[in-house]
Amino acid sequence: MVTYDQFAGRCEAVLGRIRQACLAAGRAPDSVRLLPVTKTHPVDAALFAHRFGLPAVGENRVQEALQKRPQAPAELRWELIGHLQSNKAKQALQRFDVIQSVDSAELAARLGRIAGELGLVREALIQVNSGDDPAKFGCDLAAAPAVLEAALAYPALKVTGLMAIAPLSDDPAVATRTFEALRRCRDELEARFAVRLPELSMGMSGDLEPAVAAGSTCVRVGSALFGERPSA
Ligand SMILES: *Cc1c(COP(=O)(O)O)cnc(C)c1O
Repeated sequence: MVTYDQFAGRCEAVLGRIRQACLAAGRAPDSVRLLPVTKTHPVDAALFAHRFGLPAVGENRVQEALQKRPQAPAELRWELIGHLQSNKAKQALQRFDVIQSVDSAELAARLGRIAGELGLVREALIQVNSGDDPAKFGCDLAAAPAVLEAALAYPALKVTGLMAIAPLSDDPAVATRTFEALRRCRDELEARFAVRLPELSMGMSGDLEPAVAAGSTCVRVGSALFGERPSA
């Protein structure tokens, strides 16, 4: 783990990359938010992010967030960015402010139903495997309308956009293709369902520039902020 001063320096550098990418794309610098990904790191990572003034952190496991969140300031928001098993839907709704990884119509319906029962309204993103990567979660591009349709039946689930992870590749064109496919998917869903889906969560430490160029509004950054993750 890095020290706070190292983290703050890395954070400035990442924010600089985001500003540069926005500038290059002719976008407003505040149109992209930085979501620090604290998974596998001690709770200090989340405390650093909060101290720096970032409003939210991303975690990929329900159990891990469950342990860390009580040790962090209450106003820090937690976003789930990892695959959610349906038997953890209730815990996820209780512990996370945003669920970025809704990847099936069944999960969307389950989350919507349980959120309603709990009297909660939760923001959600549909995770789409727009890079067609067999190693990644996310619904197929063709299945995205069915997932959105399932979610729209539940007022307790507010779908604000889409999320994708680019396949690992040495060819930068692969990330660009993945991100542009997600944006097109979003545009088609907005037209077909007459809804607004402003959030595009795409881009990580290694590929945030092409993501911003393709319209990302949320980059999820781990290693560029906190260093390499300890291998489990
Ligand atoms: C781990 C993770 C990230 C951050 O990856 P880095 O390459 O460390 O920036 C972003 N998104 C998701 C879904 C992740 O699981």
